[in-house]
Amino acid sequence: MTLDPLSDPHRYEDNDTLFGKILRGEIPADVVYEDEHCLAFRDIDPQAPVHVLIIPKKYIPRLSEADIEDRTILGHLLVIASQIARKEGLAEDGFRININDGVQAGQSVFHLHVHLLGGREFSWPPG
Ligand code: AMP
Repeated sequence: MTLDPLSDPHRYEDNDTLFGKILRGEIPADVVYEDEHCLAFRDIDPQAPVHVLIIPKKYIPRLSEADIEDRTILGHLLVIASQIARKEGLAEDGFRININDGVQAGQSVFHLHVHLLGGREFSWPPG
């Protein structure tokens, strides 16, 4: 299986969401990591001492719209999130990974993103 985030350039360029604009450099972001498949940047309204968003370069609006072909990209996002957590000093105490899917779950930007949160204690269940 190939992993080509730009295999559908029409969708990529049509991505008019905030994160599409960040990917194209039209809006600045505090980038902590980038490779050919994903971009990671600090959340503008951090909910923890470390709050990083990891997004695929391929435009997938929400997790529930991901296809089986997206499984490699989805796995990639988690591995990169874990590597960033280690770099941010979270490996010992742990961290939380969160994906909001849809309005009821609190998704506000419809470009799939993984929240990496750490540096404080989190309660369960989430609010
Ligand atoms: P969600 O509510 O799961 O869709 O998450 C969207 C996240 O994007 C929120 O945590 C926002 O604080 C964050 N956000 C909104 N605008 C920006 C921006 N310009 N740069 C970085 N993060 C942003």
